Amino acid sequence: MEPATTRRDYERELRQAGIRITKPRKVILQILTGSEDHPDAMAIFRRAVKIDASISLATVYRTMKLLEGLGAVHRHAFEGGPARFEHADGAHHDHLIDLDTGKVIEFHSETIERLQQQIADELGYDIEHHRLELYGRKRR
Ligand SMILES: [Zn+2]
Repeated sequence: MEPATTRRDYERELRQAGIRITKPRKVILQILTGSEDHPDAMAIFRRAVKIDASISLATVYRTMKLLEGLGAVHRHAFEGGPARFEHADGAHHDHLIDLDTGKVIEFHSETIERLQQQIADELGYDIEHHRLELYGRKRR
């Protein structure tokens, strides 16, 4: 949905948080901000080793944890698979997961956003965030 260009300067955010920007972290950040497909850790690892063969899967896991803690990535626990990640810089959107291919499709609906707001209002809540996942199969 969002272009791969990122407005947030993650490297600066890491430095400000007192975290050293190692080569692997730099590579993983690059992959994340350039990915539109919500890769899991294994997919990030496979892309990372092409750039830097010294990166291990453990490094990917540790880095994802670190970036998640900083709010730089969103972790998605889509059912039936490993956690998948996307950088946190895009506009808000929800996801439709193709059950046959695992493909993740992003969508945004003003109607749904308004409806959620209305429900929260009726229940007397301010929404901090929300997640909506649709699971489906493509019609033939
Ligand atoms: Zn997404």
